[in-house]
Amino acid sequence: MGDLEAFREDVRRWLVSNAPASMRQPLTNPDDLCWGGRKTRYPEDVQRYLDVMAERGFTAPTWPREYGGGGLSKQEAKVLAEEMGKLRLRPALTGFGLSMIGPLLLQEGSEELKREHIPPIVQGKIRWCQGYSEPGSGSDLASLQTKAVRDGDVFVLNGQKVWTSYGDKADWMFILVRTDFEAPKHAGITFLLMDMETPGVTVRPIRLISGSSPFCETFLADVRVPVRNVVGKVNSGWMLAKALLGHERTMIADVFKERNDAQRLVSLARRHLGEDAGRIADERARDRVVQVEMDQACLDLTLARSRDNQKAGHKPGPESSIFKYYGTELNQRRRELMVEILGPQGLGWEGPGFDDDELKITRDWLRSRGNTIEGGTSEVQLNIIAKRVLGLPD
Ligand SMILES: Cc1cc2nc3c(=O)[nH]c(=O)nc-3n(C[C@H](O)[C@H](O)[C@H](O)COP(=O)(O)OP(=O)(O)OC[C@H]3O[C@@H](n4cnc5c(N)ncnc54)[C@H](O)[C@@H]3O)c2cc1C
Repeated sequence: MGDLEAFREDVRRWLVSNAPASMRQPLTNPDDLCWGGRKTRYPEDVQRYLDVMAERGFTAPTWPREYGGGGLSKQEAKVLAEEMGKLRLRPALTGFGLSMIGPLLLQEGSEELKREHIPPIVQGKIRWCQGYSEPGSGSDLASLQTKAVRDGDVFVLNGQKVWTSYGDKADWMFILVRTDFEAPKHAGITFLLMDMETPGVTVRPIRLISGSSPFCETFLADVRVPVRNVVGKVNSGWMLAKALLGHERTMIADVFKERNDAQRLVSLARRHLGEDAGRIADERARDRVVQVEMDQACLDLTLARSRDNQKAGHKPGPESSIFKYYGTELNQRRRELMVEILGPQGLGWEGPGFDDDELKITRDWLRSRGNTIEGGTSEVQLNIIAKRVLGLPD
């Protein structure tokens, strides 16, 4: 216990003297986080914060030191998170490297792949994207058709991926390809790592209902990827694909915690619906706000318990579908309630008559529709929960 208190003291002092003061503000939007990578330049203080945190391994606190991680124990990582919380410090880095491919490589990658890819993830030097979905393969992901044909020590890739989040900003993609066309569909898939700069890769952004273009179509024409970039074994990619989805689904549910919207929903309701003895005046709205916040508190606690288990070596399994389903549906309820509370002010898209906060609430509400689709739809999560968590018959 004494050691942990000494660690706390050391970490607090280190954070105070190394983290730029401008990073001590709660984030309202995960898009404002630093995603690292070769293609984006960040403000000087954001980059400095990333560099100092990465140097100490604090961007991936529990990952092994030999790959650049912090090497912290579960308790030490918790202390670090608590001290960052007290200083209102945002995470120095986010992205699919830290949340998806990094954890998978640590679990299943060869020593060579770990040494090559984990340190640049920890340092935020390489940004990753996910090449799973195809125009004809979303929920039924195992039907994917992107072809990879072996030619000596490379695979030659041809096909198309779709809904590649931030594909235009990413440096590398983890991609599922079909390497055996005769085998049953789950048995012919390989998990590969592909540099987005490889000749033959073309990325085209897709514009969404919310007005932004966070994801892309990715076209592959005779793209040559070294065989050494296979994670696991050739034709055994499906197990890895599912393991990674476990990380992804937990991460999607977790993202909404960081938004710190609790006070915002309450204060929004007070401001727009009035107060009665310090409470939200409208009784029905008050009930709904309280219900959302109670449900959020339950989800946060359950996620924290699951994270503790993961740090103790438990891999996220089909129960990550519960977090994904509940977190994204809850987020939609929150966003809808915010728009309802705003009334006509929640219907703005742009122009005069609406302030920035109001426009953002409308756009966040529209964006929340996609959360119940990405990483597997709500219907698909319910199927997984029914079959693999509850053991119900087909
Ligand atoms: C914001 C966002 C970001 C994304 N980012 C990425 C990314 O970075 N990389 C990537 O590879 N993909 C990404 N995706 C794609 C996402 O994984 C797919 O959209 C998702 O898996 C659904 O596939 P689909 O769109 O083909 O829909 P379909 O599979 O065609 O589904 C259509 C409808 O049918 C329902 N349905 C399908 N099968 C069943 C079933 N068996 N039982 C009950 N209902 C069913 C679905 O629930 C859905 O309502 C992203 C999607 C979104 C919205």
